[in-house]
Amino acid sequence: PETAPRAGLIGAAVIGELPHRGAEATKFDGGAVLVCGGSTGLSGAPSLAALAAARAGAGYVTALVPASLNVVFELRQAEVMSVPLPEEDGALVPAALDLALERCARADALVLGPGLGRSDGAGALARALAVEAPVPLLLDADGLNAHAGRLEELAARTAPTVLTPHGGELARLLDVGGDEVRARRLSLARQAAMRSGAIVVLKGDDTLVATPEGAVGISRGDAPALATAGTGDVLSGTIGALLARGVEPFTAACAGVELHRRAGQLVGERIGVEGALAGDVADALPAARRMAA
Ligand code: AMP
Ligand code: MG
Repeated sequence: PETAPRAGLIGAAVIGELPHRGAEATKFDGGAVLVCGGSTGLSGAPSLAALAAARAGAGYVTALVPASLNVVFELRQAEVMSVPLPEEDGALVPAALDLALERCARADALVLGPGLGRSDGAGALARALAVEAPVPLLLDADGLNAHAGRLEELAARTAPTVLTPHGGELARLLDVGGDEVRARRLSLARQAAMRSGAIVVLKGDDTLVATPEGAVGISRGDAPALATAGTGDVLSGTIGALLARGVEPFTAACAGVELHRRAGQLVGERIGVEGALAGDVADALPAARRMAA
C-alpha cells in the first residue's frame, strides 16, 4: 500500500468552512456558474451539472450547449439559462470559442466537459477554452479526454483549476493502462496534479483529492447510491458552484466531494441504494449541506 506525506481523511468539518448566503444576498452574490457541454445523445450531462450547481448554492447558472440541443436543454431545466453554440453540419465551429469566452468574462467559474463528446470540434473547443478561460475551471469527462496525453497544457492556466477524472479518464490523461491506475491511484493522482498544476479529484468508491504540492485528501465512499450514471456530472456542478463562490480550490474540491457523498447517502436512505437517480443526488445537496452545518 502507498503512503503519502500529507494525507488526511475528508470529513464534515470542510463543509463548515463554506460561506453562507447572507440575509441580504442577491443572486449575484451566490456566484455565476457557466457549464459548457452536451452533444447528441448526451444532453443530460450538462443539464445535471447545471442543476447540481444551482442545488449547491450558485446564484446564477448558464449553460453553453450545441445549438442543435438548445431547445431540449431549455425544456428540461427551468432554472438554468442557455446559450446555443454555433454548429455547421452538426459540428461545433471555431466561432463557438469566441462566444464561450465572451460568456466566461461574465461568469465566476466554468464547468467544462460534461457530455461534450469526442468530436474534433468539441476537443478543439475544450482545449482552447480550458487554457484561455480566465475564471476558475472545473474540467470533467470529455473536457478531460480532450487533454489525453497533454496534461501539461493546463499548467499555462493562471486561475484555479480542478480536474475530476475517474480511473479511465486519468489513464487517458497520463497515457497509462487502467490496471496501472488501479494499482497506483494515490501516486498517479499526485503526479497528475503536479504535471497540470491543478487539484486532481480521482473518483471511485473511495475518492482522492490531490494538490500539485503533494497533499492528498481521502474520501471514504460509503455511498453506493452514487454508482449510477450522471453522478459524476452532479459532482462537477457541485464543485463548480463552490469555485464560483470564491472558495479556494482544494477546499472546494474536498467540500464538493463530501457534500456529494452525503447527498448520495441521503438518497440511499430515503429512496433506496438501488434505483436512486443522479438528479435525486443533486436534489439532496441542500439537505446534505444543512445536516453537516
Ligand atoms: P462518473 O464515473 O464520472 O460517472 O462519476 C461517478 C461518481 O460517483 C464519482 O463521484 C464517484 O466517486 C461516485 N461513485 C461511484 N461509485 C461509487 C461507490 N460505489 N461508492 C461511492 N461513490 C461512488
Ligand atoms: Mg463522468
